[in-house]
Amino acid sequence: MRENLEVAIETITLADDVLLEDGWFGVKAIDDATIAIGEPAYHQRNWSYLISDGDDSLLFDTGSGRRSIAPLVARHGRARVDAFPSHMHFDHLGNIHAFGPATVADLPMLRAIETNGTLTPTDEMFLGASEAVPVPTFEVGRWIAPDEVVRVGGRSLHVLHTPGHSPDSVSLWEAERSRLYAADFIYCGALYAQTPGASLRDYLRICEQLLDDLPEQVQIVCAHGQPENGVDDAPVLGYGDLHALRNVVAMLLKDEPRTGEVPVNERMDLRFSAESFTA
Ligand SMILES: [Zn+2]
Repeated sequence: MRENLEVAIETITLADDVLLEDGWFGVKAIDDATIAIGEPAYHQRNWSYLISDGDDSLLFDTGSGRRSIAPLVARHGRARVDAFPSHMHFDHLGNIHAFGPATVADLPMLRAIETNGTLTPTDEMFLGASEAVPVPTFEVGRWIAPDEVVRVGGRSLHVLHTPGHSPDSVSLWEAERSRLYAADFIYCGALYAQTPGASLRDYLRICEQLLDDLPEQVQIVCAHGQPENGVDDAPVLGYGDLHALRNVVAMLLKDEPRTGEVPVNERMDLRFSAESFTA
């Protein structure tokens, strides 16, 4: 198990509009009804999103679980809060039990692990062993298929199946705000395509699909951040970053399979394994 999973929050410099809550979370309102919830003192610097309207909130990812996100969500969320994990990696499922039955992407690999209305991710889906995080079992409240719309009050979020980082990854597209909640498909820092189930061919296909379908002014909000000039802020990427990733993956796929890491641009690197060339 690796050590140094977190640093003292006092050593972190937050952007002026990111407010420290519960001595652990960095909270930023990205519009009047959406907050980004960061964990800047955790080495993976996760960011979850609380999307609200009327009496409803959707929590897209529940964080690393190193602290409970539930009290913060109770303060900021509306009367009904649904948790929706973007994928089954351990750092996106923390404290998911706190929110009752979860919304889950209706994908064959997730249906395959359902038993009596509950999900237990496989070790390979969860990957928590490296940080000694036990595999959870949690209830499924509803299945939402790719291309279906999740309604949060009057807001509409299209579920997009975005494999590449993991086969069960989904992102949410909110046309009204021209915003993609990209989860782990693309984020600031080192992208993981070296983990089990990662696929460079999926990365290429989904990048091309997103470049075709999304407007050039898309705001891409991400599930991991990196400090820039020593300051932690909610991570946002754009169309140009998607384009850069597409080009790097296309170039890699012309080579023989190998394990390594390449820069994508000044904000991203891509880690890959030989297996990710053929998965
Ligand atoms: Zn992940």
